[in-house]
Amino acid sequence: MKFEFQAIGFIQSCYKEKFGIPRQPGLAPAAKGQLKLVAPFNHPDAVRGLEKSTHIWLQFVFHQCQRDHWKPTVRPPRLGGNERIGVFATRATFRPNPIGLSVVKLEKIEIDGQDVTLHLSGLDLVEGTPILDIKPYIPYVDQVSEAENTLASESPEILPVIWSETAQQQLINYEGQFGSFKTLVDQVLQQDPRPAYRKNQSEEKVYGIQLNEANVRFSVSDQVVTVQAIEF
Ligand code: SAM
Repeated sequence: MKFEFQAIGFIQSCYKEKFGIPRQPGLAPAAKGQLKLVAPFNHPDAVRGLEKSTHIWLQFVFHQCQRDHWKPTVRPPRLGGNERIGVFATRATFRPNPIGLSVVKLEKIEIDGQDVTLHLSGLDLVEGTPILDIKPYIPYVDQVSEAENTLASESPEILPVIWSETAQQQLINYEGQFGSFKTLVDQVLQQDPRPAYRKNQSEEKVYGIQLNEANVRFSVSDQVVTVQAIEF
């Protein structure tokens, strides 16, 4: 059977590229974005009552990971990027149907004529992600107190983040123009966004992540992340 779905809206995100996005929602609560509904789904009635939910589920397309073939096993970063396990045992982006599922915080719903915008935080989605559906998070159903996953039993280790003098000065200039930014950078970098096989390695290499309008340059040495510069 084949099905065809239409995007009901698209994401505007603080994450401008895939690299550096935390691997699940909620790991960087300061990450902000908006979901803009598109016609004919931008009807204010379609979100009536949704403001009663503090959190929502988003079903979306991994539009930057579409392939015309799939593999039954993948190497999840959580297992160091070397061990293969079944695609259905993971939240990998390359899957038979490139569909993702994220729970995010619904900060506010803004309605201006036919413009329906959901303001979100804690998202793990890249700019332009097409959304297929929205569902309210229902704690008494969705919170499963006895649930376990022995492949991912704890939240990922986080690293301390320090700022070089250059980056601190650039931050002062940047925040003067764009408001709070440091928390987002700290929350994203403490996850050590480098490729999984680099975990626990010290490197001279300086990486760059595009967050909002800024290119955040960082390196990781002795399990400490240093923000080297913020360029924009
Ligand atoms: N929470 C979702 C899930 O479990 O289905 C997504 C998990 S997936 C491991 C999260 C990663 O997907 C992010 O780190 C980011 O690199 C990637 N990503 C986010 N939006 C994407 C998109 N539109 N297309 C492809 N990859 C995307």
